[in-house]
Amino acid sequence: MKFDIKAIRKDFPILEREVYGKRYIYFDNAATAFKPLQVLKAVEKIYTQFNGNPHRGAHYMSNQTTVEFEAVRDKVQQFINAPSREEIIFTKGTTESINLVAYSFSEAFIHEGDEVIVSEMEHHANIVPWQIVCERKKATIKVIPFDDSGRLMVEKLPELISEKTKIIAVTLVSNVLGAINPVEEVIAIAHEKNIPVLIDGAQAVQHIAIDVQKMDCDFFVFSGHKLYGPTGVGCLYGKRQWLDAMPPFLGGGEMIEKVSFSGTTFNVIPYKFEAGTPNFTEVIGLGAAIDYLNSIGFDKIFHYEQELADYARMKLDTIDGIRFFGQTSHQSNVISFIVNSIHPYDMGMFLDKMSFAVRTGHHCAEPVMDHFKIPGTVRVSLAFYNTRDEIDRFVDALKKVVAMLS
Ligand code: PMP
Repeated sequence: MKFDIKAIRKDFPILEREVYGKRYIYFDNAATAFKPLQVLKAVEKIYTQFNGNPHRGAHYMSNQTTVEFEAVRDKVQQFINAPSREEIIFTKGTTESINLVAYSFSEAFIHEGDEVIVSEMEHHANIVPWQIVCERKKATIKVIPFDDSGRLMVEKLPELISEKTKIIAVTLVSNVLGAINPVEEVIAIAHEKNIPVLIDGAQAVQHIAIDVQKMDCDFFVFSGHKLYGPTGVGCLYGKRQWLDAMPPFLGGGEMIEKVSFSGTTFNVIPYKFEAGTPNFTEVIGLGAAIDYLNSIGFDKIFHYEQELADYARMKLDTIDGIRFFGQTSHQSNVISFIVNSIHPYDMGMFLDKMSFAVRTGHHCAEPVMDHFKIPGTVRVSLAFYNTRDEIDRFVDALKKVVAMLS
């Protein structure tokens, strides 16, 4: 099938929206992506036709949502090529998925004096949960650095690993630097010492086809809202050997086998980790998003976005005084920069008033800002519904903003 940008854009009615009297151009897709009509309709269908609590009732509506909810588990399994559906757990998002692993894994496997390794370019969601756990367990965190081009220095990993290393957590794509990290190398080094690896896929899953078996990661996490699905839903893939050995994260309905005041036994995976009523509407919406992306084809999405990002970098490079953060040989659709000494926030504010949405600030990755000794960057993050024309207009607007603020 041809990549038909006109047809694709029609699926996203929000792209027609005018703000401040002009069509709004949205380049903040790494924060959250727009949703196609197919997702909106799937969500509407639940509220107008089913709305039964899954797994709980013998009645028609509950059964219907159970079937649709569980079908999404199969879709996610296929989407990331997980070995089995039981290894897919629905959460609230990447943040909750990482917190789940940090808490439950550490309960079983991290003890006083142990070590956890993360990278210097992690989002706070892949730093703070580990810090909380390490504080509680009296363990320590070690950090894989990146160089000034934004390249993860994997060659430093062997010297960071010790007998005490219990888990390594790294991102596949940096939400600031846009670098696509060689996580297979990290995993190979870690597995030589039988250390499990968690991969943060929050900025990867919407851009790159994922195969967790080929990657051989032990955990893989992502959010639905960055994958053109609803908010409030995310996934955790974990290898069965780890998930079976980890205690539950949250207690409540559905995660139990038998409850009595003399003791409670827990359900099998994935249910052991899905306490309470799940976000079934959002999960079903996520299923519609995956169907939609599959109907376009991930190869096409990747190539289109890569070309668009290369074009954007080339056009942005014509701006005097621009400085990019993240210039490795494998860059994604995320582009961070500053221009001269203009504060990113000022640029963002002016751009907004000209009807362009970009993200400014530290992007929840303060260690990356510390590395470069900057307060923040402007971040352009592209989706497959963006166009070269939008980039041309953006660069023209940015040139005006720079002239105004210089
Ligand atoms: N990791 C990365 C790399 C991210 O970009 C984000 C979102 N900005 C997160 C984790 C957290 O995702 P969420 O807020 O959807 O839980």
